[in-house]
Amino acid sequence: MSDSGRQAASGLPDDETVEAIQRGLIEWYEADHRAYPWRETDDPYEILVSEIMSQQTQLDRVVEAWADFLEEWPTAEALATAPRGEVVAFWSDHSLGYNNRAKYLHEAATQIVEEYDGAFPETPAALQELMGVGPYTANAVASFAFNNGDAVVDTNVKRVLYRAFDIPDDDAAFETAASDLMPAGRSRVWNNAIMELGGVACGKTPRCDEAGCPWREWCHAYETGDFTAPDVPTQPSFDGSRRQFRGRVIRLLGEHDEMALDTLGHRIRVDYTPDGEHGREWLRGLLSDLSDDGLVAVDERDEGTVARLE
Ligand code: SF4
Repeated sequence: MSDSGRQAASGLPDDETVEAIQRGLIEWYEADHRAYPWRETDDPYEILVSEIMSQQTQLDRVVEAWADFLEEWPTAEALATAPRGEVVAFWSDHSLGYNNRAKYLHEAATQIVEEYDGAFPETPAALQELMGVGPYTANAVASFAFNNGDAVVDTNVKRVLYRAFDIPDDDAAFETAASDLMPAGRSRVWNNAIMELGGVACGKTPRCDEAGCPWREWCHAYETGDFTAPDVPTQPSFDGSRRQFRGRVIRLLGEHDEMALDTLGHRIRVDYTPDGEHGREWLRGLLSDLSDDGLVAVDERDEGTVARLE
């Protein structure tokens, strides 16, 4: 099947648009992202330790434990020669969840030394041979250490794909869309970027504008105002003061000669629904205040209401 045929089948836009979507996300991620130290390394051992620790512990708390662990056992060889009890004690002292994970990590280090001659395998399938390393962790290590992974599909990624491209809530559909969307040979930056998008912009309560989401111009949810997702069964609620919305209206109208009422509504608040609580009536009130202040002009035309800067 051709690329465009495959993309049509996966529910994604055409090739050219997909390239713009890819570029947009990578540029957004590279311009600014949460600076976790394991994002600065491509050492598979260091990445494996961070992945195992993050399975049950919040990332902010993993930062310190990860640094302490690597100071104690800086390489797979060092960990393999440590008494297992010491590794388990470290795990308990740092409240890292099930002690079995410490035992598996120790065992995996032993495998690396004894079976792999000190060199990590580099593919997701081969990495799964390591003790305690499941498909998700194997793919993360293959991506972040070797830039050799498949597209990650976790809860965050599903939420993003469902909202942005209207991908149905079906595991096979998510897998296909995620892998068609990933630029070839760029799993390291891509998987980091799409997980970052799901973490800081497209969380359960999305922050499309605040986080400067790079996919707003293509996003189905942003266009329709429906932000439900497989893990968000009802419309999330949003904060936002009137002053903030006034500011957004002025900024947007400054970028456009004029804007239709609903287009403006969807662009200024993620929960805009024309007939809902935060819909046309609410927006007309806001525009009327701005008009009283001499900032905005509202024209009623046959084709609908249009707003522009005064
Ligand atoms: S525009 Fe909003 S809903 Fe759409 S992908 Fe971005 S953050 Fe998610």
